[in-house]
Amino acid sequence: MNIIETRDISFSYNTKEILTNVSFSLKQGEFLGIIGPNGAGKSTILRLICGILRPKHGTITVSGHDTRGIERKQLAKKIAFVSQETHFVLNFTVEEIVMMGRFPYLRAFQRENKTDYEARDHALAYADLQDFRKRPINSLSSGERQRVVLARALAQEPAILILDEPTSHLDLHHQFAIMELLKKLNKEGMSIIAVNHDLNLASLYCERLILMHQGKVFEQGSPKDLITEKILKQVYQTEVKVIRHPQKDVPHILLNPKGE
Ligand code: ADP
Repeated sequence: MNIIETRDISFSYNTKEILTNVSFSLKQGEFLGIIGPNGAGKSTILRLICGILRPKHGTITVSGHDTRGIERKQLAKKIAFVSQETHFVLNFTVEEIVMMGRFPYLRAFQRENKTDYEARDHALAYADLQDFRKRPINSLSSGERQRVVLARALAQEPAILILDEPTSHLDLHHQFAIMELLKKLNKEGMSIIAVNHDLNLASLYCERLILMHQGKVFEQGSPKDLITEKILKQVYQTEVKVIRHPQKDVPHILLNPKGE
């Protein structure tokens, strides 16, 4: 069953068309990766799915319902978005920010209850943030703040997690930890869409990939289908060597420095 479907999505910020006839689906329980060069429209399609932007043409359905007809709080119980934005204007503590993920479950002026505190604490533990919980957000490094944004999304207890470059500010240890955490959440039933610039991580962790180029879906398929020397040359204008990962039957990219 498709939990998300985008059909013929077109979108412009002003007059310039950014996305043209983008169609793809996310199956229930799938771990889908979106890859493509800078400016291909990856972040824009995520923002459209989460209801932050509205498509000019086409439809987006979540569990068969057009997102235009779903109230924002209801959508937020279903989908959580981990954006690239880790800048916070107000200097709340880490645990206060993670608790904000419970907002969709609270009625006006209602205080958080035991379930909300438990969801917050699980999310803090999942993102390895227990030692940071009392720290003001702006005293954290960008990588630590990125984990706070993920923890806030997990506190939302969504069925679908949408992530825009979740590992971009992270060191090797935390890149691996976050990708393994996403794999675990996915095994437990969460459906995931992640934009990832690191094609080797996408190849290792995603079951299926959507390759975007110049506002269109260039190709979709398994990492083996998409991560080839020919396609990467066409889309990224870069000559690379693609080998088989030594432990998993997936492609792995090696760069060839010039003149060596
Ligand atoms: P990607 O995530 O693939 O790098 P984006 O979706 O962020 O691509 O951007 C796609 C295109 O839309 C880019 O050309 C970018 O400059 C443009 N764009 C993104 N956000 C805005 C905005 N708020 N206003 C105008 N143009 C934008």
